[in-house]
Amino acid sequence: MTRPLQAKTYDVCIVGSGAGGGMTAHVLTAAGADVIMLEAGPMWDNSKDSAMFKWPYESPRRGASTHERQFGEFGANLGGWSLDGEPYTSAPGERFDWFRSRMLGGRTNHWGRISLRFGPDDFQRKTIDGLGDNWPITYDDVAPYYDRVDRLIGVFGSKEGLPNHPDGIFQPPPRPRCYELLIKKAADKLKITCIPSRLSILTQPIGDRPHCHYCGQCDRGCATNSNFTSPNVLIFPAMKTGKLTLKTGAMVREVTTGANGLADGVVYIDKSTGREERVRARVVVLAASACESARLLLNSRSSRFPLGLANSSGVVGKYLTDTTGTDVGGFIPALMDGVHHNEDGVGGMHLYMPWWLDNKKLDFPRGYHIEMGGGRHLPGYGVLGGIQRFPPGGGYGKQLKDDYRRYYGSTVGFSGRGEQIPNENCYCEIDPDTVDQWGIPVLRFHWKWSDYEYKQVKHMQETFRAIIAEMGGTPFSPMPPAERGYGISNGGQIIHELGTVRMGNNPSTSALNAHCQAHDVKNLFVTDGGPFVSQADKNPTWTILALAWRTSDYIVEQRKAGAL
Ligand SMILES: Cc1cc2nc3c(=O)[nH]c(=O)nc-3n(C[C@H](O)[C@H](O)[C@H](O)COP(=O)(O)OP(=O)(O)OC[C@H]3O[C@@H](n4cnc5c(N)ncnc54)[C@H](O)[C@@H]3O)c2cc1C
Ligand code: SF4
Repeated sequence: MTRPLQAKTYDVCIVGSGAGGGMTAHVLTAAGADVIMLEAGPMWDNSKDSAMFKWPYESPRRGASTHERQFGEFGANLGGWSLDGEPYTSAPGERFDWFRSRMLGGRTNHWGRISLRFGPDDFQRKTIDGLGDNWPITYDDVAPYYDRVDRLIGVFGSKEGLPNHPDGIFQPPPRPRCYELLIKKAADKLKITCIPSRLSILTQPIGDRPHCHYCGQCDRGCATNSNFTSPNVLIFPAMKTGKLTLKTGAMVREVTTGANGLADGVVYIDKSTGREERVRARVVVLAASACESARLLLNSRSSRFPLGLANSSGVVGKYLTDTTGTDVGGFIPALMDGVHHNEDGVGGMHLYMPWWLDNKKLDFPRGYHIEMGGGRHLPGYGVLGGIQRFPPGGGYGKQLKDDYRRYYGSTVGFSGRGEQIPNENCYCEIDPDTVDQWGIPVLRFHWKWSDYEYKQVKHMQETFRAIIAEMGGTPFSPMPPAERGYGISNGGQIIHELGTVRMGNNPSTSALNAHCQAHDVKNLFVTDGGPFVSQADKNPTWTILALAWRTSDYIVEQRKAGAL
């Protein structure tokens, strides 16, 4: 039973507390709006909940993942590929893996913090190669917001002046580690651009956030607040304004509308009581992650909006994309028998390889970047599992212990992260036959990579193998054949799902306008990855943050003008 509307009307109700929700709360509360944020997961505060200072041997389960923490017992992540009582389905014979966080801050607690701007070309791809669609905005529209995000949150990197990889307002990058220098040497030989990475980890303090002390444990959550999470940098400061009411354990079911067709609030399930509650607000902002926001809109049906809210175009759920990905690891004899030293650094790579080629000379459109791993970090459980793959490999007793010391740090790994072209076979919709534990209809996914992506991933595999060969090493496995898609990741597996509530100038082909405002419902906005018109060869979160800031500024202006 749904309880009556609460008497209070908030200026804004935000659904979700990840990158998009956190930034929206930060900007709107700073502008004086009275905001309520509803988050399905529990409270998470790194200053109390982080396992950053623990030794691996303190883990009772030897670091293994649990159902609740699928990236390991010490990881700062609640949620994962499956959630109890919250299923999703895929069309027969198809597969999409949907990663969902359920905690304050969503996936920003345990993301990789690779913080890249989209480039000017990324907003206008159709003009360049005729595929997909252009965004209704350009890089110049977003650039001032990237600048603000850089300054507020902090990101390190180097000024390179590369085309379509815009420089930001960078803090100094950490120096490369030994294995990274060797990779760079090989990359230089192969004429692959290899530069300092761009991560939102402080190498200089900002306000009361100290610089990183290089423990390499970002995925456990940073107890000193030296990297970016939505709670630490956006939500907790917003709460200090006294303008943010935070309700955790609140699973939103739908957006409600009044007789005038405008959104008037949301209905949510209070997980602590199991009861449905209603919140009233003048503006509703969805930031529940791209697919979850699409689900909310599709589930907000009424006689006035029979296809769901903001969906007169029928595009909600469509144009779903993920980043392409594949990995290759290898053994590098030159890194064997290394001098013992501490290579911890920040909790991520110190170098990376942005897209460096011209598609006109290739058999696939769009590009990818290369992420790298390796080195002598704090050894965790399972370290050097698979030692039998190293020559002479394996054994017992002293021989085995000596081999562990010999081979530790002698492997490298490369991961490609590339741009998918939106296609009509990739989308989500409401499954008519399945509901979650609260009776809310769930999403059903449809997924097919196209030849563009397979060819791109083949190129990744060949490139990574060429780098390993140039380093004098050997890959651990042969190249996956065409029948296995050259080792392409499953849809969703790279956890960069975007584009289910896309923006555009034409209300019949897009759900949102250029300000991420619903064409059909002027007081409804989306500030997660849903509005994206296309992927890029960059990770998306820095753009989610910049767009969320831009949208929030627009909400502030419109409220001042009395239009909302
Ligand atoms: C392991 C990992 C590594 C990653 N690395 C990178 C990287 O290096 N660089 C990069 O750019 N991106 C990376 N990402 C992706 C990045 O985390 C996401 O792009 C980003 O967090 C998306 O922000 P969001 O606000 O859209 O959603 P989320 O961060 O997912 O937050 C959504 C929130 O909404 C809540 N919610 C959902 N449904 C409801 C509901 N019905 N009612 C109430 N609340 C709800 C969820 O509980 C969640 O807290 C990574 C992700 C993972 C998991
Ligand atoms: S590496 Fe730096 S930012 Fe990451 S957890 Fe350690 S101190 Fe914090």
